[in-house]
Amino acid sequence: MDTTTHASCLHKVNTYLQRIEEKKALNAFIHTYPEEAQQRAIEVDKRMEEGKAGLLAGMVVGLKDLFCYENHPVTASSAILEGFISQITATSVQRLLAQDAILIGHQNCDEFAMGASNEHSVYGAVAHPLDPSYLPGGSSGGSAAAVASNLCDVALGTDTGGSVRQPAAWCGIIGLKPTYGRISRYGVIEFASSLDTVSILAREIEACAKMLEALAGVDPGDNTSSSQPVPAYHQHLSWNKKARIAYFKEALDHPALDEEVKAHTLKTLKRLTQQGHTVTPVNFPLLEYALPTYLILNTAEGSANLARYDGIRYGQRSSKAQTLDEVYTQTRTQLLGKEVKRRILLGTFVLSARYYDAYYTRAQKVRRRIKEAMETLLETYDFVLLPTSATTAMRRGHTQDDPIKEYLCDLYTVIASVSGLPAISIPNGNTEAGWPIGLQVIGKAFDEKSLLAFSQYLMKNGES
Ligand code: GLN
Repeated sequence: MDTTTHASCLHKVNTYLQRIEEKKALNAFIHTYPEEAQQRAIEVDKRMEEGKAGLLAGMVVGLKDLFCYENHPVTASSAILEGFISQITATSVQRLLAQDAILIGHQNCDEFAMGASNEHSVYGAVAHPLDPSYLPGGSSGGSAAAVASNLCDVALGTDTGGSVRQPAAWCGIIGLKPTYGRISRYGVIEFASSLDTVSILAREIEACAKMLEALAGVDPGDNTSSSQPVPAYHQHLSWNKKARIAYFKEALDHPALDEEVKAHTLKTLKRLTQQGHTVTPVNFPLLEYALPTYLILNTAEGSANLARYDGIRYGQRSSKAQTLDEVYTQTRTQLLGKEVKRRILLGTFVLSARYYDAYYTRAQKVRRRIKEAMETLLETYDFVLLPTSATTAMRRGHTQDDPIKEYLCDLYTVIASVSGLPAISIPNGNTEAGWPIGLQVIGKAFDEKSLLAFSQYLMKNGES
């Protein structure tokens, strides 16, 4: 028997725990579970020796602070949930455990996943792994910084409008948002339920494929989860066909697009043409409507979902409140952050009787148009390629005076979100100053198999 395997999972966990300690200044983790992770590593090592270990044996996973894990704290990085302990375990977390993954801790994020900077957390901002005066992106910023800094193998995040793809791009790693409904949302703290997608952050496509394989599939706990069959993604990672690729002219001509990001995207498109793939520029005038549509939908759904944090049912309550009305207003005024309150107010406005049709109903209609246009396009093309983010990592405080600047970070990611399509961000080189650039690939609904295989091809044949 190979006794070195026994030491391996435990050794890896200990190495990660030590690095988490060394890199505390990143502020990537909110809670770690050292004894539990070590204990589990010993068990998994044993199962590996016996040849009985699951698909994710020894994979060390971090969880964005939105995933419920029984008897562990979860706060959505909000003061309103301080001290809250989960009474259930999210289906996704159960599935990881069932395949012998090791959970190392909960990671910092923007409060209730609202943000693109990770500055909206009650625990403070997360630092970018390359320079602490820069941001990792958000809202899954702690998870992206942790994976990029080698503090865990992979992380579970959520992507509602780009929250896994954009921080992955800024931190130089992989971020996969599967098709809406591919992974159960049961036990994940909600932001905007028609958009929220459990997503994966990883350094290699293979790890990403294994994670998706373990996580995907129908779940009675989430009636939007899909019963589409789940392929063995990690066994189908080779891509030998000539791909038909579309890219949007409007995306590359957008004034917000950074010159270096544009140059790297064009270089990749050119290389793909040289490699014999068909690369076609298409007009997609609906691009400019995707962001306003997303903003109306996420605030509307977010305001409805967050109504449950009323100072009574969950977490904290304002101590000075006397009447029921005061309990609601003081708790929410004192314990929710500025960005969350902004979204609740906007959402309440777009859902109000007088404006409902002008905003919410209209946004639903535009969403449908975008979804149909994307689906039609993907009948002709295998993939749509575009930058993940218009810029590379931003400095701390850059968007503080103007929330619109932060919303613009989602310019290219929300297309796949409102369409429910699978999309991935993979590294696409660095700027001259060394900042990572992300390339986004959008695929057909429920065809993560092709998306992952083609991404693997891009990673092997590109500058990433
Ligand atoms: N940055 C986007 C927002 O602020 C996306 C958030 C998300 O995907 N959770 O809404």
